[in-house]
Amino acid sequence: MRGVPEGLFERTSPSGPLTEEHLALRDTMRDFVAREIVPHIDEWEEARRLPRSLYRKAAEVGLQGLIWPEELGGSGGDFLMQIIAFEEIARAGAGGVAASLGSYSIGLPPIVKLGRPEILERYARPVIAGEKIAALCVTEPGGGSDVAALRTTARRDGAHYVVNGEKTFITSGVQADVLTVAVRTDLESRGAKGISFLVVEGDSPGLSRTELFKMGWHASDTAHLHFADVRVPAENLLGVEHEGFRAAMLNFNDERLVIAAQAVGFAEACLAEARAWAAERSAFGCRLSENQAIRHRLVEMVMQVDAARTLVHDVVARRMAGADPLPTHIARTAMAKITATTALFNVAGQAVQILGGMGYMRGTVSERVFRETKVLSIGGGADEILKDLAARQMGF
Ligand SMILES: Cc1cc2nc3c(=O)[nH]c(=O)nc-3n(C[C@H](O)[C@H](O)[C@H](O)COP(=O)(O)OP(=O)(O)OC[C@H]3O[C@@H](n4cnc5c(N)ncnc54)[C@H](O)[C@@H]3O)c2cc1C
Repeated sequence: MRGVPEGLFERTSPSGPLTEEHLALRDTMRDFVAREIVPHIDEWEEARRLPRSLYRKAAEVGLQGLIWPEELGGSGGDFLMQIIAFEEIARAGAGGVAASLGSYSIGLPPIVKLGRPEILERYARPVIAGEKIAALCVTEPGGGSDVAALRTTARRDGAHYVVNGEKTFITSGVQADVLTVAVRTDLESRGAKGISFLVVEGDSPGLSRTELFKMGWHASDTAHLHFADVRVPAENLLGVEHEGFRAAMLNFNDERLVIAAQAVGFAEACLAEARAWAAERSAFGCRLSENQAIRHRLVEMVMQVDAARTLVHDVVARRMAGADPLPTHIARTAMAKITATTALFNVAGQAVQILGGMGYMRGTVSERVFRETKVLSIGGGADEILKDLAARQMGF
């Protein structure tokens, strides 16, 4: 049941067919996934982390630098490239691999967008080169949805900030070398005002980590982080002090589109496995796929994957063209994430059903992805929070 599933139809984006560059990237990523990811998934799931060599290999095909400037070792591609890359990685059918290999896609943007030149050199360049692992640390034990309520403090002390507090559920948190941490720098403040981003080095004295164990995403290392008087050079502040909340919120939009693209890829992996199983497996003297009920189920799965992909690509194309006012973009992004992750939830469940008992067994893509569906409706903004956000943006 292993292997990168073939796509059901050539992918196009609503803005027109993918360009030669997009198609070339898709082929490169498909080859990378087949060669460097698929054969090792079980081993990494068992080890509960990815090997550092994978980050270097991913950098060789340009993954981490896809959308970042050439001056930093990137290739300056457009955002659709990022979407295609993550859809392809997801088609391996292992959310933990996509999550930890992809933690740079949430940890790096605040650094590249807001960091001073020396910070870019020190932290962004090695992450893009696959030499260092980045993580984004926003969620706290007291709550993740209400970002504005975060309590980790960074008190200014001469040329340093002194960080105290806790972060939890942090993807790549066990291994990360470069931590992009949301902190409260205005200690008198409450709510959104007074929040900043700092880059904290993984080996900073006073930083300790505890590994967390999860329902799925086993190949991804997830950690609880404890900051006890961690001294961080003041130059590691990203952007304007106390003004980090808006940057965090805008950053979430791209993260949500990447999650939506991954949901499409995971759903396609399940669909491909179920389709192959239905064509091979016999019951009551005929192939499963000869039953109309099974064929209808497969068509319903294709409908959901196709609709989700079309929506995600449309939101991405309009984002790239600057076609929508910001509130519209925020609302459509939130709704696209919910649509794609709901499609995945349904498709993964239907795939397990078609595989029968085999769909409940370790070793099938559908079993693993089914266990991994829930997290995509929680991380990057839970469904309830995103519906509230969309409602506010649309003036409901
Ligand atoms: C595997 C995994 C990896 C993660 N990786 C990272 C990471 O790398 N970095 C990071 O910073 N965070 C990470 N997270 C955290 C994730 O972003 C949070 O779990 C998420 O934001 C939800 O926060 P919470 O878990 O504290 O739930 P809560 O905020 O406590 O919410 C609990 C439930 O209540 C609902 N709810 C809350 N408020 C309302 C309301 N007003 N109305 C209706 N319903 C409401 C929520 O939608 C949710 O369903 C990760 C989480 C997981 C599970």
